Amino acid sequence: MYVRLARPIERDSIVDGEGLRTVVWTQGCAHNCFGCHNPSTHSFKDGFLEDVEVIKQQIKNSYNQDGVTLSGGDPFFQLDASLEIAAFCQSIGLNVWAYTGYTFDQLMLLSKRNEKILELLKNIDILVDGRFVLTERSLEWKFRGSKNQRIIDVKKSLKQNKPVVITKYNKMNSYNILNNREKNIYV
Ligand code: SF4
Repeated sequence: MYVRLARPIERDSIVDGEGLRTVVWTQGCAHNCFGCHNPSTHSFKDGFLEDVEVIKQQIKNSYNQDGVTLSGGDPFFQLDASLEIAAFCQSIGLNVWAYTGYTFDQLMLLSKRNEKILELLKNIDILVDGRFVLTERSLEWKFRGSKNQRIIDVKKSLKQNKPVVITKYNKMNSYNILNNREKNIYV
């Protein structure tokens, strides 16, 4: 199985979720959020194909990582590959964050027609959901680009059948304020 990537996996990220993380940058996104700072990741033809087994091996060989983040693009546009990667991470004890332009509620609705969405959600610990909204843009909120985006405990949400937001991330990101770096814009 192959996954289309925007760029090679990145290790030691501290801005794509909690802890030291390996990021899988999937290529392809149809949300077309106005002001998206990653428009080069939208095309479903650009980027490059990589064997999922290679990605799994790279993740396995990464040292001192707290978890893996599926970002993009939007990993929900490559369900089979994202599911394979997420399930592998869980099997070796790595927590999984995922970024998506869909809301949790939209994904639950869509999962009624495509059960792989639910399977992928079951293999994700934390979901950063929702489109990037330019008028809600913030450099100060942790791990996201705009304030409408929620950081959701997926396992609790699936159990309670409603999105459970992790409120500890709803505070100012002093790292961003001090450094004011463009790198800290999340989508
Ligand atoms: S902000 Fe994220 S979800 Fe929106 S278009 Fe860009 S990559 Fe897609």
